[in-house]
Amino acid sequence: MKSKLVFSIALITCVIFSYAQDKVLMDASNSIRIDELKEKMYTYSSDEFEGKDTPSRGQELAVAYLANHYKNLKIPSVKKNSYFQPVPLQFESKPKISLNISDKDFKYYDDYISYKNGPDKSYKDEDIIYAGFGIEDNKYSDYKNLDVNGKIVIVIGGEPKNKNDEFFINGKQKSKWSNIRQEINLKSEIAKSKGALALIIVDEYLHRRYSYRFRYSDSEKGRKRMELGNEESNNFQVLLFSEKHKEFLSNENLKLNMNFKKDVQTFSADNVAAIIRGIEFPDEYVILTAHLDHVGIQNGEIYNGADDNGSGTVALLEIAEAFALAKEQGYSPKRSVVFLHVTAEERGLLGSEYYADYDPLVPINNTIANLNMDMMGRADPNRGIKNLNYVYVIGSDILSDDLHKINLEANEKYAFLELDFRYNDINDPNQFYYRSDHYHFVKNNIPSIFYFSGVHEDYHKPTDTAEKILYEPYKRRVKLIFHTAWGLANSKDKIKLK
Ligand SMILES: [Zn+2]
Repeated sequence: MKSKLVFSIALITCVIFSYAQDKVLMDASNSIRIDELKEKMYTYSSDEFEGKDTPSRGQELAVAYLANHYKNLKIPSVKKNSYFQPVPLQFESKPKISLNISDKDFKYYDDYISYKNGPDKSYKDEDIIYAGFGIEDNKYSDYKNLDVNGKIVIVIGGEPKNKNDEFFINGKQKSKWSNIRQEINLKSEIAKSKGALALIIVDEYLHRRYSYRFRYSDSEKGRKRMELGNEESNNFQVLLFSEKHKEFLSNENLKLNMNFKKDVQTFSADNVAAIIRGIEFPDEYVILTAHLDHVGIQNGEIYNGADDNGSGTVALLEIAEAFALAKEQGYSPKRSVVFLHVTAEERGLLGSEYYADYDPLVPINNTIANLNMDMMGRADPNRGIKNLNYVYVIGSDILSDDLHKINLEANEKYAFLELDFRYNDINDPNQFYYRSDHYHFVKNNIPSIFYFSGVHEDYHKPTDTAEKILYEPYKRRVKLIFHTAWGLANSKDKIKLK
């Protein structure tokens, strides 16, 4: 009798407890409402913020607005005493550079370009050493028995294939490095770690692509290039060479002479970061991201950027509000949840690169998942299917099955969207998996989902405005992300990598 009674009390307590928790979760979820989304969307994409270019007065007003939101909700900053993480940036123009190799002169743009700035420096008769594809992996290495310390390393683009015409490293038809920025960065990291003085990549496609782009952006007409301005991302020289000199460059005992002086203007812009600390596993982090910037004013017209990326920004603000509401009712998440708004996405995913590679405000190794929101408030006119209550889900099952599962469950219970996985493919020609801020988490092996509703006729136009957002599907997408984040933060076990 007694034990039965104890059991019944325990059961009832349990039911009440779980009922209370469900109610708190539903209240939090129901706080994501169209009227609130609308109000924030009209504010964030108003003319007052002047298109939020990096850097600009409008963007400074925008980050102040974001910080204020967290302050009002009493959600603390990640950093002590400040919601802002200054990101060092620089505008880059054509460097002062002259280059010859074993008495042969080379012409800037036509023959080569400086893709990444190293320190200002004179190179005198430096040895050049050939290192194949410039790859080092546990299955394959071009650096075996090669001492490149203090030398200029020269490599070719791409990666080797085996006799089945598959790429050596991942055994697939498609290169592991289908993102070219990633290829250049990885090859440069490897050469740098071996003590090389500089890296030359000889590749027609890479050279053509970037010389064309740099020639334009270095000219009067072009918009200047922007890169990170911190010392560590500017301490190694990378040159891209055209293949027209491939034969000459394959000679042995070549010597390089080069004078290099960069031409940059440095400044900083802010990421904004807030956190709700977990109560059970506070040192495990779920990080939610959205870029806060857009492309500013061009030819006198303000680019309001409602979908890009007012939609991701406002979603993040509403999700933070829902978590804060639950916390107020006594339900803090088990794991910590970080709300990160990143700058300079439109300039090459720079705010997220700085966060992930140089200054993660919480340990990157304990960051268990990333949910990224970018352009999620419209409909894709090319989708050709009438149901507007859909969302493109990109990346959910690429690094973790658990992440995929949690997202599916959140949708089935709370968001009722058609999940469209057509771009969930690392080989998709649109390359969406590499094109927003989640990429810098993915490359650090952090499972990520990119939530996206597609490109449309107002993409990067002054007509991307607040009244064109489709608020009903948008609201459901925000709910989906909130519940997925909730699931990630509160699951019994932390999600596993594949
Ligand atoms: Zn965007």
